[in-house]
Amino acid sequence: MKKDDCIFCKIAAGEIGSHTLYEDEDFRVIFDLNPGTKGHALVIPKEHADGIFDMDDETASKVLVVAKKVATAMKEAFNADGFNIIQNNGECAGQSVKHFHMHLFPRYEGDKALGLWKPGQTTDEELQVLEDKVKEILN
Ligand code: AMP
Ligand code: ZN
Repeated sequence: MKKDDCIFCKIAAGEIGSHTLYEDEDFRVIFDLNPGTKGHALVIPKEHADGIFDMDDETASKVLVVAKKVATAMKEAFNADGFNIIQNNGECAGQSVKHFHMHLFPRYEGDKALGLWKPGQTTDEELQVLEDKVKEILN
């Protein structure tokens, strides 16, 4: 389903023009308008989901295959030294467009393009509590 006021629905459907690197029945891969590094691109499903939590399993099962295929071509085309695959859910996690998308983010030696998390500390007891909570929901 498309969502009427969603810009990524319109881009994915081809109603708004874009530089499209790859397209199939389920996805369109376009360049990001404000690239963090040279070649930064987005995998956009044609089916609307706000994020990973309301995405259907079929689309979810296909998205990494598309990301892998296009990232492999991009790495070679742009001579990238490394690659981040990033997917944000929720404002506090950095999501600004509420239509699921996966960032294909080429990295170049010394680019300093991303700051990742500061490693913290934990205990076995803390991890046990967290493990039990997740398992209670999963089981
Ligand atoms: P996120 O912060 O994970 O939601 O990422 C949204 C990304 O979409 C940002 O990197 C924006 O630069 C990018 N973006 C927003 N609008 C467009 C657009 N019309 N075409 C291409 N990229 C866009
Ligand atoms: Zn949408």
